Amino acid sequence: MTLSTHAAAGIMIAEWTGNPLLGFLIAIMSHYLLDMVPHGDEFVYWRYIHNKDDRIAKTAGTVDILVLSLMLTLLLTYGDDFHGSLTLLGALGGTLPDLLINIDSVLRRHPPKSRVGRAGEWLIKKHYTMHMFFHQLLFIPVRYRMALFLQLIAITLFLTFAI
Ligand SMILES: [Zn+2]
Repeated sequence: MTLSTHAAAGIMIAEWTGNPLLGFLIAIMSHYLLDMVPHGDEFVYWRYIHNKDDRIAKTAGTVDILVLSLMLTLLLTYGDDFHGSLTLLGALGGTLPDLLINIDSVLRRHPPKSRVGRAGEWLIKKHYTMHMFFHQLLFIPVRYRMALFLQLIAITLFLTFAI
């Protein structure tokens, strides 16, 4: 699922709680629930795993980051400081599990040498397994174009209910 969708859900949740810390924690949990919803990006993920320079995976990731940046810029520009902290922590909580997945792929290429580093690597590998478990719980193939269209609608709804 796109980072933008997870961030929008996290922002909505943080706004509903009205508490940045609680919003952050529930936004993290929302990530795993949302990942259970079939979202058609498995082939993009596997393309990236097999080839870090894959054009389709890079384009999908770049567009996602641009949409997320635009979304955060607009919300932070037109919101006050309190809502700004809810927006940032909700977005961070909503996307954190996928950010950890990216750390996992870096650690696989550059394994840490220190004891603390290896303990962190072990935790991140456990998280990877748990994350993939939620991803594959309701595996139903969905056309990628349709999944992106539905996520665009979801982002619009999440942000509408957040504001
Ligand atoms: Zn995820």
